[in-house]
Amino acid sequence: MKLEQQVSQADLPCMPVLFVGHGSPLNAIEGSEFSRAWAELGQSLPRPKAVLCISAHWQTLGTWITAMPQPRTIHDFYGFPQALFDFAYPASGCPALAAKIQTAMPLIQLDRGWGLDHGSWSVLCHMFPNADIPVLQLSLDRGLSPRQHYQLGQALRWLRAEGVLIVGSGNIVHNLQAVIWRDTAHDWAVAFAERVKQLIAEPDHQALVRYPEIAGSTLAIPTDEHFLPLLYILGLQDETEEAKFWTDKTTLGAISMLSVQFG
Ligand code: ZN
Repeated sequence: MKLEQQVSQADLPCMPVLFVGHGSPLNAIEGSEFSRAWAELGQSLPRPKAVLCISAHWQTLGTWITAMPQPRTIHDFYGFPQALFDFAYPASGCPALAAKIQTAMPLIQLDRGWGLDHGSWSVLCHMFPNADIPVLQLSLDRGLSPRQHYQLGQALRWLRAEGVLIVGSGNIVHNLQAVIWRDTAHDWAVAFAERVKQLIAEPDHQALVRYPEIAGSTLAIPTDEHFLPLLYILGLQDETEEAKFWTDKTTLGAISMLSVQFG
């Protein structure tokens, strides 16, 4: 191999990976400390060729990836202002990339019916406000164990070198029954978020994969769909990469907005 080829291969961009606590859909249209942090985060990143978002809000049987050229904006919530239902995030899809991923990982199936749910667009509209980067979503297979979700994240690592920004979008504390519409938080929610943050920083992936054993988990994540995207991002973390925390606050009683970047 020629030296130039060795250099160019060594220089291939390795995109960072992100877990973002998305919280209320209102963050899409209301300026908040979180939306401002996402905008700043977007500006700090190398420009990706595409974004692959693993959102808490798309659970399926089997793992699916969006493969349409123009994904619709899905308004998957109730009881919010009309302005939020009128909001559209017109990023294109990337059927060629979806097909490439499906070829490399045949267990992933091509989807043409979903689109972008608010786990994706409420964050990406601040991170990439021009909607000029293609966005794909990967679903959460209800049939996988936590360890299998983590391993699927590991199997997606090659995409980082292809210039794809992988974003897990959920919340590490998410208990809608305990929500208080104020900027405050239950002690147990803060304690669980703090413990998870500590385990991310160490890092102790095995303890995080066994999250039901972490004290307070039944209250903090009575259902786990908002926690699972984190396991993909941990699987994507290179051993040499340290955690960089962005927003780190538990609010609305029981919603952790902790976000973390690797790479
Ligand atoms: Zn959510």
